[in-house]
Amino acid sequence: MPKPIISDKCTNCGTCIEICPVDVFSKEDGKVVVKKASDCIGCRACEVQCPEEAIKIED
Ligand code: SF4
Ligand code: SF4
Repeated sequence: MPKPIISDKCTNCGTCIEICPVDVFSKEDGKVVVKKASDCIGCRACEVQCPEEAIKIED
């Protein structure tokens, strides 16, 4: 099962929230979090498009 992990390089820009096709990410108290990891389909759009290279998809 693919699973996105956000590192401490994240600046909470919100790009991953915008691009994830299945809404895995959300913002809580200003911090972007992996809300629904089990919904991830492993498309890697977030990993590729995060401007800080802060997301890794674990297989
Ligand atoms: S796109 Fe990257 S830097 Fe921006 S909120 Fe998501 S993980 Fe953080
Ligand atoms: S790999 Fe795709 S489905 Fe999974 S969290 Fe990233 S953008 Fe969403």
